[in-house]
Amino acid sequence: MTTQQGKILIIDDEEQARQVIHRKLANEGYDCLEAANASQALAKLKRNSIELAILDIKMPGKSGIELLPEIREHYPDTAVIMATVIADTNTAFQCMRQGAVDYITKPLNLDEVVLSVDRALEMRRLRLIESEKQYRVFFESANDILLFLDRHGKILDVNEKLKEVGGYEREELVGKNIRYLASIMSKKSLAIIAKNFIKRMAGLSVPPYEVEMVTKSGEWLTIEINAVAIRREGKVIGDLVILRDMTERKRAEAEIKQLYEQVKAFNIELEERIKERTKELEIAVKEAEAANQAKSEFLSGMSHELRTPLTAIIGFSQVLTEQYFGELNEKQAEYVKDILESGEHLLSLINDVLDLAKVEAGKAELELSRFNMKELLENSLVMIKEKTSKHSISLEARISPALDNLTITADQRRLKQVMFNLLSNAAKFTPDHGRITVEAGRKGKELIISVADTGIGIDPSDQRKIFGEFYQAHTGPTDKTPGTGLGLPLSKSFIEMHEGKIWVESEGKGKGSRFIFSLPIRESEKEYAKKKRPKIGEILIAEGRITQQELGEALKKQKRKT
Ligand code: ADP
Repeated sequence: MTTQQGKILIIDDEEQARQVIHRKLANEGYDCLEAANASQALAKLKRNSIELAILDIKMPGKSGIELLPEIREHYPDTAVIMATVIADTNTAFQCMRQGAVDYITKPLNLDEVVLSVDRALEMRRLRLIESEKQYRVFFESANDILLFLDRHGKILDVNEKLKEVGGYEREELVGKNIRYLASIMSKKSLAIIAKNFIKRMAGLSVPPYEVEMVTKSGEWLTIEINAVAIRREGKVIGDLVILRDMTERKRAEAEIKQLYEQVKAFNIELEERIKERTKELEIAVKEAEAANQAKSEFLSGMSHELRTPLTAIIGFSQVLTEQYFGELNEKQAEYVKDILESGEHLLSLINDVLDLAKVEAGKAELELSRFNMKELLENSLVMIKEKTSKHSISLEARISPALDNLTITADQRRLKQVMFNLLSNAAKFTPDHGRITVEAGRKGKELIISVADTGIGIDPSDQRKIFGEFYQAHTGPTDKTPGTGLGLPLSKSFIEMHEGKIWVESEGKGKGSRFIFSLPIRESEKEYAKKKRPKIGEILIAEGRITQQELGEALKKQKRKT
């Protein structure tokens, strides 16, 4: 096989041996050079492109064995065949382990020499093809644009990525000088590239930097450049330039930055708005506190004013119904009875208002005592008995034996009032022949008490509202006592003062209702947390209930006047 490009270097101190080989190989079409020693050989390797060296093992000065590793290191593409005397084939094998491709023996058999040369060159060619293939795979599969420059700035190679990213053909760049990049880069970018290329060729390192590149379709991209100098024998012989498209990343970064700025601005605005709203709310709370205080003062004042004349109305109408000062005719008796009933209703309203005003003002405190809850429940049933039997409503109590000997510490009067409110409501909103059931039991550290009826029921939309002041979902049956709309809110306040809960269950109109409250079982006063008093509405409200004694005194006073 012949080759037009590379040369064969015959390194041997024996002139005759060199010439014999030279002649034979020249006849075969090979271009040969000769070297008589190691230093001549290195000089020729440097100046020429040597494909193959035939290296004599035994030479004066630097021997073939010593020269081989040097050739392998600095000229890895040059194949080496060792020449040795027949007696020293062992050394030849050693050389092959160090990278020689073959060996020939002296005295020379020239046909054997030609055969070995042909084989070595073929192997070298195949190896180069293989490494070229591997290089291509690596080069083309890179995620970035790769550009090879020689040390003069000539573009030796560029991968397909250039077309993918920039739309340019390989042929447009290969063979051109780096200056040609002016047509695809901004002027400023090219100046930076040129400056950095010179630095690198001088052996200095350059950190990655960014340039602007225009694509064939006119779009500007941000490209990060990273370059690695290629060295041979310690000298820089070229540059591998990696161009990475950073446009998407830059865009994403810019978007994130913009978003971040927006969020920051929004946060500042939000903080401002919260500050403003807090200020407004503080003012509103102060105004509400003042209004609440005024309302409590007004209610308490009004209730006291109304109570005094009422005691007289109730007292005197009671005296009149008893016909103590003479008989009344039928009409008179009926009217006096109406006056008494209306007076009593008004009085209960005023008492409720007073109670509520006290609770709202934070003035109400629990009057704690120890008592048996079962007894309290039974007493409440007695209080309502008359009313229920008048309307043929059956009254049933299911009190768990767990309550038999249970004494608790609580506010007896207020709990009685809660039971009375619930039972009177049940009686009021249950048509004749209905049923009221009181159930009581213990669940852990709580008492659970309920009052259920078969009455008119409560619409789900009203079930929360009825615990608000003056809310009446519907007016009760006309033949029964009118309500005030204060019973439930008061009961709720009283239960909550005991740290309990109250709620209602009803499947809706006509389906009956069931009011339930829970009450923590407390043994002693100490178990009640000291309540912090609200700051607002701390007004002085005198005891709110009309006592038997007050009534007697009012009657006496009136009598004296008449
Ligand atoms: P009042 O009974 O004096 O109107 P409450 O605060 O005790 O005031 O009750 C508020 C409202 O709740 C009542 O007007 C009524 O609409 C509803 N309500 C209370 N108890 C019952 C019940 N057992 N059945 C149906 N509705 C009830």
